Amino acid sequence: MFDYSISTNCLAQKIILVTGAGDGIGRTAALTYAKLGATVILLGKTVKKLEAVYDEIIAQGSAEPAIIPLDLKGATKQHYLDMSATIVEQFGKLDGALLNASMLGDLTPFTQINEKTWDDVMQVNSTSQFLMTQALIPALLKSEIASLVFTTSTVGHQGRAFWGAYSVSKFAIEGMMQVIADEYENSSLRTNAINPGATRTKMRASAYPAEDQEKLATTEQIMPLYVYLMAEDSKSVNGKVLNAQ
Ligand code: NDP
Repeated sequence: MFDYSISTNCLAQKIILVTGAGDGIGRTAALTYAKLGATVILLGKTVKKLEAVYDEIIAQGSAEPAIIPLDLKGATKQHYLDMSATIVEQFGKLDGALLNASMLGDLTPFTQINEKTWDDVMQVNSTSQFLMTQALIPALLKSEIASLVFTTSTVGHQGRAFWGAYSVSKFAIEGMMQVIADEYENSSLRTNAINPGATRTKMRASAYPAEDQEKLATTEQIMPLYVYLMAEDSKSVNGKVLNAQ
């Protein structure tokens, strides 16, 4: 695991957006950030799941979160601009954004990739991240020290048979991360990407249905890197892909 010792309240006063916050890694990241003092903004597709995370955050005694129900498949540039404006209106700034939501699509031979699946995966995993980031950067620049964190995968830097659209979409994420990191190198904004590695979630189970889930890292175990990149200890880290495991 990535080696970082998490200190209590290391995210105090921070406003952090987490996408895909209703399930899997995003859910655990939202709960963890809130526990460490952040006010979290929970973005996701399924409102019920977001409400359940909201309730858990309140139950653990953390600051009241905000909820943004949004399906990245259909969201337009205007949705992201409105969202960013609301964040600035409500909180005055955004200190961190964990762009974690994504979809797997179908794992098939390249010649059999369905055009609709390709479009959906590219929309959710890459284009939506581009539009959202464009809208969020002004809010992030209102923070004295801000962190933008993308989520990649091992197949985002080494293509693999049958991982088609998902793999290509994660290559795009790594490229986007590097472009933004370079453009904002001398600013208060740092931009990096996390490769979580094999982690016990629904997405992993659908990619590897025969695998023994018990042998995989839990979402809680991979949190040190997720916290490090939001905490001020990482303020000089920019343009990197870091492995959570
Ligand atoms: P899960 O499938 O468990 O969770 C994905 C989350 O993204 C869910 O909260 C889901 O919401 C949300 N989401 C999916 N599609 C949309 C959409 N169209 N609009 C809004 N939200 C959406 O995945 P993981 O937690 O495993 O994955 C998290 C990230 O880590 C992803 O980027 C994934 O590619 C990456 N990753 C994961 C690995 C693993 O082993 N688990 C390995 C390498 C990378 P809802 O539940 O409402 O559908």
